[in-house]
Amino acid sequence: MAKDQAVRCSLCGREKKETKVLIAGVSGHICEACITQAYQIIHEESKAEQQRRAQTSMELLKPKTIKAKLDEYVIGQEAAKKTLSVAVYNHFKRIQNETHNTEVEIDKSNLILVGETGTGKTLLARTIAKLLQLPFCIADATVLTEAGYVGEDVESILTRLLQAADYNVPAAEKGIVFIDEIDKIARKSDNPSITRDVSGEGVQQALLKLLEGTVVNVPPQGGRKHPDAKMIQVNTKNILFICGGAFDGIDKKIAQRLNTRAVGFTTTHMKRVERHDVLQYLSPQDLKAYGLIPELIGRLPVLTYLNPLDRNALRSILTEPKNALIKQYQSLLAMDGIELSFEDAVLDLIVDKTMDFNLGARGLRGICEVLLLELMYELPESTPKPNQYHVTLAFAKQKLQDLKLETLNAA
Ligand code: ADP
Repeated sequence: MAKDQAVRCSLCGREKKETKVLIAGVSGHICEACITQAYQIIHEESKAEQQRRAQTSMELLKPKTIKAKLDEYVIGQEAAKKTLSVAVYNHFKRIQNETHNTEVEIDKSNLILVGETGTGKTLLARTIAKLLQLPFCIADATVLTEAGYVGEDVESILTRLLQAADYNVPAAEKGIVFIDEIDKIARKSDNPSITRDVSGEGVQQALLKLLEGTVVNVPPQGGRKHPDAKMIQVNTKNILFICGGAFDGIDKKIAQRLNTRAVGFTTTHMKRVERHDVLQYLSPQDLKAYGLIPELIGRLPVLTYLNPLDRNALRSILTEPKNALIKQYQSLLAMDGIELSFEDAVLDLIVDKTMDFNLGARGLRGICEVLLLELMYELPESTPKPNQYHVTLAFAKQKLQDLKLETLNAA
């Protein structure tokens, strides 16, 4: 065959001998490299289209609808769910407003969630991101440091968000970031002049720009291990930041403030008020008293709280949410063809044990694991294999009687 008649890929022009596979069409050929590249383009396009569609449909979701969706996954925490629903709705309105109205600039509605560990702060943030199909990442404030110190720079948060968005920058720029343990970077003293507390205050300072909205050069791999990697520019203007923290002892600060302000609020009265009653009076002043700097508080304008979970809430968490723990174990065993059921008293016992250990909702999972481990080990291969299994109180008591806090994996 003459050279000019050699069979080639009609797209890139490579000759047959340079390709691994060359597929013939009606009037031409295509090589494997072009097929792969075309596939990638189609894949990326359809993902971007999906995200665009998801966002347009979610922009129409009103606060009550958002709250109703959150109700399917998060038990109780009415105040937090309401506040979050409005904040997210306003967040979308703000983004829309940018293109429609340039006169009134709406501030960001970054949030701060105050509540004991295991009350659902992360769950709320994760659920809202899932509902809205937005890229989501969790950062731990305690590992962050200001630039130049050992630890992770605040920019690393955005690396994680980019990864969650499959490096789709426009998608990441509309994502949600949950910064956990924000209380742990509180300045130790309310008075900045006493000691300069580098670890806490420095990180708070470093976060300011990020929260407010700025263009950040983000290392795609994170960390300083890849100094040569090309930086990706990410604008944080439309990223919603949700910060969470337990703020141990903040109830006392709130009580103190209420005591000094409210005439007739006696100390004896305040003593009788439980932490969850006081939390509803949470105000930015209390965060300042706790050691957050005013500039940071200013950039987290929406403030809400989560109540400690009581018995009833824990009991509901076991069975009611869409992906409730009990439903998860039932699905797992259903894959082995076994229908798992529980005596009601077993669920009460799980809750009692969780309360005894004071583990909050996180404890439920650890206790369920201990209770069901043997069953999940034995049942799939037992002969004859049962098609149902009923967990009785007697069985549960026997499994959980010697349970020690140390053996529980409640992380
Ligand atoms: P936090 O971030 O407040 O420390 P998480 O949101 O991580 O707590 O909660 C830990 C786990 O406990 C969640 O994955 C979830 O299974 C369960 N949980 C906690 N609070 C709730 C709640 N209010 N409703 C449903 N499940 C909850």
